[in-house]
Amino acid sequence: MLIINGTVYNGVDQNPASNAIGIKDDKIVFIGTATDHINPKKTIDATGLIVSPGFIDPHTHADRDLNKPDEAHNLPFLMQGVTTVVVGNDGDSFYPLSKYKKLYLEQGIGTNVVPLLGHHEVIKSVIGNSDTRPSSEQLQKMCELVQKEMEEGAFGMSTGLYYAPGSYTQTDEVIALAKVVAQNDGVYDTHLRDEGSSTVGLITAIKEAIEIGRQAKLPIHISHIKCLGVDVWKQSDSIITLVNNAHKVGIEVTANQYPYDASATSLNSAVSPRWAESGGKDSLLIRANDPKYKTKVLQDTKMNITKRGGPDKLLIVKCDDDRFLGKTLLEISEDLRVSPEQAVYSILQSGYVRVASFNMNPYDIENFMKQDWVVTGSDGNTGHPRKYGSFPRKYHKYVKTDRVIGVADFINGSTSKTAEIFRIPQRGKLEIGYFADIIAFHPEKFMDKADYTDAFQFAEGLAYSIINGKIALEQGEFTQKLNGKVLTK
Ligand SMILES: [Zn+2]
Repeated sequence: MLIINGTVYNGVDQNPASNAIGIKDDKIVFIGTATDHINPKKTIDATGLIVSPGFIDPHTHADRDLNKPDEAHNLPFLMQGVTTVVVGNDGDSFYPLSKYKKLYLEQGIGTNVVPLLGHHEVIKSVIGNSDTRPSSEQLQKMCELVQKEMEEGAFGMSTGLYYAPGSYTQTDEVIALAKVVAQNDGVYDTHLRDEGSSTVGLITAIKEAIEIGRQAKLPIHISHIKCLGVDVWKQSDSIITLVNNAHKVGIEVTANQYPYDASATSLNSAVSPRWAESGGKDSLLIRANDPKYKTKVLQDTKMNITKRGGPDKLLIVKCDDDRFLGKTLLEISEDLRVSPEQAVYSILQSGYVRVASFNMNPYDIENFMKQDWVVTGSDGNTGHPRKYGSFPRKYHKYVKTDRVIGVADFINGSTSKTAEIFRIPQRGKLEIGYFADIIAFHPEKFMDKADYTDAFQFAEGLAYSIINGKIALEQGEFTQKLNGKVLTK
């Protein structure tokens, strides 16, 4: 197969070239202009298109879809130009990896998958969901479990220290496990203990991540870096200094970022106090109604709502009860004639609830985006438009419209840099011998369509997606072929 006439960004260089790219089987075998000697079975004419390595998304929750046969195509990501997704982030992975490797192989998947081991699975397997310290024997068991999953092919371990039960673990426990990851040449990917001012504070949480890297001697990747909430706005400058200083003493610290000013998480994770969640969500609901705890639960919830900017800044984006979906916490509290903090626990009765939380400042978003150690990530998760729009939105808004970064910076920070961070071999660049994960998109039409009112709209402007040398998207149409593979370390 030969791709001709495109404007080719190779994932590394600043300037594009007008090379043809030849593919045989699943690899790139030719890059250049002298194509006379090649007799391709298929030629793709990329006139007017930008050709680049397929995007690698370092933080997704795509595994929840990939496990289902009818969503294994991974189209929300595929249509953004993503050809490889990292899964198992935030401390939550499908466990054990052996089971899911087999499932993906049998069922087929639409994009490549890079699995991480989730810290929560390690904790839950050994000590359960509660706020307890592991004994040295239990810690040893946890280390063995990490070793086993790394041998199974995980690229590293993710933590979600903001979330229970990760939030109950102390730094030295994390370091012990991270050392096992380090022995296997893996990476440490983290949802920080605090992205705002809800517990230890953002700066302390960044320092903790760097300290884990220093002591366990492994690369640290901070997921969806942000300054969450008015209390920590404009702290990006201090954080950038901390990271640059870590680089100077040889600690590898990188981050990913999604290009939106609202974050999303479960309603209880956003505003309920962590202490009240010990034992799980059922325990939280019991405490919220128990006269002994109720006042304190509501006080702490109220404080957390304030830190996120107030009840009008929290939008319910996923909820089984239609009365609440698409409304802000303020609107719901008015409907129910209760305080916003009381409304939280009425809404939580309906089951799993997600919120979009409008809590970021453009200054910090752009400041982080300009750093050469920050790559594009979607944190793609049902209900937030970022699952369908992150990569094209960053291109359309921050490259084309606002000119915060350049085209090559966007492409390189969505391809080769991400492959390097996660130690994914032979992907992320257009180079002879590399796997043929290649996309072509329209420079003017490539943009996101999903928003908070309809988060399920595919991005536009992607013309071609080739994964492992096979066409997944042709002239904007999905070929129904599942060309992805589970990559293992
Ligand atoms: Zn996260």
